[in-house]
Amino acid sequence: GNFVPPIRTNGANTGNMTSRIAGKGDDSIDDSTKRCMEMLCGPDGELPEKLRNLEPRLIEHVSNEIMDQDPHVRWDDIAGLEHAKKCVTEMVIWPLLRPDIFKGCRSPGRGLLLFGPPGTGKTMIGKAIAGEAKATFFYISASSLTSKWIGEGEKLVRALFGVASCRQPAVIFVDEIDSLLSQRKSEGEHESSRRLKTQFLIEMEGFDSGSEQILLIEARAWIIRNLLEKDALFKLSKEETDTICRLTEGYSGSDMKNLVKDASMGPLREALRQGIEITKLRKEDMRPVTLQDFENALQEVRPSVSPNELGTYEVWNRQFGSLS
Ligand code: ADP
Repeated sequence: GNFVPPIRTNGANTGNMTSRIAGKGDDSIDDSTKRCMEMLCGPDGELPEKLRNLEPRLIEHVSNEIMDQDPHVRWDDIAGLEHAKKCVTEMVIWPLLRPDIFKGCRSPGRGLLLFGPPGTGKTMIGKAIAGEAKATFFYISASSLTSKWIGEGEKLVRALFGVASCRQPAVIFVDEIDSLLSQRKSEGEHESSRRLKTQFLIEMEGFDSGSEQILLIEARAWIIRNLLEKDALFKLSKEETDTICRLTEGYSGSDMKNLVKDASMGPLREALRQGIEITKLRKEDMRPVTLQDFENALQEVRPSVSPNELGTYEVWNRQFGSLS
């Protein structure tokens, strides 16, 4: 009710917030931007200090595209990764739930680095943290800051941390952070990318103190059972599930998901091969998914991470990581 539209009308300055957020030369702020700003205003109807000098369109982008109020991932959805889950619970979830206990010596680190090959559950862990701690989840890919937001990345980072501070507790998940922070400072480095890096480090102040590295290992059997048992399509014996596990050494969590998807197409493809039309096909006409379907799918879905690459992560973990 206290919201003042941030648009200058007839040259008149209609309120505090108007001047503060329209001060950047944004004369045309549409309704959806206004709604985002409204939601971030405090009980006094004022925009929090941190957001006042930010461009409304960036705040809107963060609110609509980067923020996820309920990412729908729970701890139990994540297979394996027991050591990672234990570290994350102690480092992040308990402190978020009991800030009164996690003070002084116990004060939590502000950053956490999850590393590992693609598709092994790092994003899932980020989402589950937010879910378990009833926090707001923010997802940003560091490479988009340099590719999509050329020259504006620094401002977007400021908007991201600004909105997150108004939405506490918050989890900011920065994907592919190595693409941003590992770049060496070089002569040819673009001024804007240097500023972006600096801004990140400022916002993540405290990142070094108390951060942990976490080794992610996946549990294929769990993923297979979880995916297969949830669904009546599969009728596999324990021995057959074990065989699939053996055959999928080196497959990541997302490789496993793709494998199960492909195998489950087996009965459908077979029915269609026999001449049944897709529109006339009855579910009862399809046989259950068998081990043979998985063996066929294994020809199609190959592991996305090579043993060599995995070795690199293991070496890195021995040197810098958290050992289970
Ligand atoms: P990353 O962030 O490590 O690249 P994601 O967390 O985005 O990987 O995983 C991609 C998908 O693969 C998930 O949405 C999920 O379906 C599946 N997956 C990966 N790892 C696991 C896991 N440990 N447990 C269950 N599912 C997983």
